[in-house]
Amino acid sequence: MSSVAHNIDVEAVNQELELRTPQEVLTWALETLHPNIAMAWSGAEDVAVVDMMLKINPKARIFTLDTGRLNPETYEAIDRVRNKYGCQIEIMFPDYSAAEVMVREKGMNLFYESVENRKRCCGVRKVEPLKRMLSTLQAWVTGLRRDQAVTRTVLPKVEIDKAFGEILKVNPIADWSHEQVWDYIRSNNVPYNALHDQGYPSIGCAPCTRVVQPGEDIRAGRWWWENPETKECGLHVKQH
Ligand code: SF4
Repeated sequence: MSSVAHNIDVEAVNQELELRTPQEVLTWALETLHPNIAMAWSGAEDVAVVDMMLKINPKARIFTLDTGRLNPETYEAIDRVRNKYGCQIEIMFPDYSAAEVMVREKGMNLFYESVENRKRCCGVRKVEPLKRMLSTLQAWVTGLRRDQAVTRTVLPKVEIDKAFGEILKVNPIADWSHEQVWDYIRSNNVPYNALHDQGYPSIGCAPCTRVVQPGEDIRAGRWWWENPETKECGLHVKQH
């Protein structure tokens, strides 16, 4: 880990921030680490965090991963955020040669055939571009929440991300509910992905995301053909 982040006592900071608001967590993070910190926006409801960050610091850095398989509504959401806030979204693309080799070997929709294929696709289209971005940062911000998945029930506000070079990972809305996020989006008039109004609570790539039925788990529409325990794409690895 690089110098500023290396000097942070994560356990003490975490205790201090656990009961603080997302804005207080983000203010601490931006004052301590900007411009070496950036938010990984997925193009979905974590746009609430984008809004908070840009209100605290209009130069706060936001990036997103264009996997090449996103819905048109997600691209529209990215442009609406650019236009509303006048900010630059740092778009990361997959390594084209790795994507070409994978698709030639395994086909366009390899992910339906096995968990191994799905993880390979997520590796090429998401994890490698994320690693490339994070290798330039000291910390990243996510919109992860504890109530999103069985894989996320224990999620600190600030942690060391062992999966990505031991940089800091800041999860300012870890303790927020789905309802709190939507109250924030509506009361602050935050532009959001139109797919949310069509029954998609969780949005990822088009071929791997579907509408969920009333009463279903909010992540039930992601990789619906897999068991819940395997449903992470490698971007957010459970810390042990
Ligand atoms: S979510 Fe689906 S299409 Fe997107 S990178 Fe993962 S396997 Fe590939």
